[in-house]
Amino acid sequence: MTRLAGKTALVTGAGRGIGAAIALAFAREGAAVVLAELDIDTAEQTAQRIATETGARVLAVRTDVTQSASMQHAVSEAQRAFDAPLDVLVNNAGINVFCDPLTMTDDDWRRCFAVDLDGVWNGCRAVLPGMVERGAGSIVNIASTHSFKIIPGCFPYPVAKHGVIGLTRALGIEYAPRNVRVNAIAPGYIETQLTHDWWNEQADPVAAQQATLDLQPMKRIGRPEEVAMTAVFLASDEAPFINASCITVDGGRSALYHD
Ligand code: NDP
Repeated sequence: MTRLAGKTALVTGAGRGIGAAIALAFAREGAAVVLAELDIDTAEQTAQRIATETGARVLAVRTDVTQSASMQHAVSEAQRAFDAPLDVLVNNAGINVFCDPLTMTDDDWRRCFAVDLDGVWNGCRAVLPGMVERGAGSIVNIASTHSFKIIPGCFPYPVAKHGVIGLTRALGIEYAPRNVRVNAIAPGYIETQLTHDWWNEQADPVAAQQATLDLQPMKRIGRPEEVAMTAVFLASDEAPFINASCITVDGGRSALYHD
């Protein structure tokens, strides 16, 4: 499998969940991959596992996406380790911050935007100068079905995720003349720690999980690998005319009408 052969990629929040699945899929397709992750122990374990399984060049770099300097450092480390500029960036790191708007603290608001929107911009800003100069690059931002649907009680996460789509479209248009593509993926419910944490916070976690499954057209939630397949496609040369777009990966859930 060589759809990303010769390419270098950086994936944020890649220690686990969707980010880890994307890093593995990229490595399987021949890319050299940097896992830019807050928890360096998890990142190193995941990097080791991916390298052993695929034989690819894999590097873990402690990165806090909320800090512009930390993202810049991760990009520099990637270029130093692989002796090549980055071809692909996946802004995947994200957190759930679900509050009632009027009882939410200022800190909750800032924490959400710092990771879920500033983090995406910090990543883009770190790689764009190089991509623009070379006239090539693909950025994939992990948005959410919360980017265009509102579930009561989830504020302000969807506000930040709407912003991710705006950022994707704005930068996609800005840099299209330089052949830098910026796209998003909007996952629905995906089987990760984030999803289990949310179910476990509900009064009845088993009932909450069942309620989620009942509304899934495919009667299951998605797997991280299924998001990763779409990221490989957008990162590869198979999507040269897809730009400023968002691909939904939710088994049809957001198309379903229900009361
Ligand atoms: P997980 O919580 O499983 O993984 C997120 C990863 O991001 C963790 O490894 C976490 O590290 C890391 N991270 C958090 N904050 C930072 C930071 N400041 N800097 C660097 N890394 C950080 O989440 P998912 O895999 O489920 O989600 C990945 C993305 O997909 C997110 O953007 C999320 O919003 C989006 N998404 C997920 C859906 C789902 O159903 N799972 C649905 C729709 C969208 P640590 O462990 O140290 O906190």
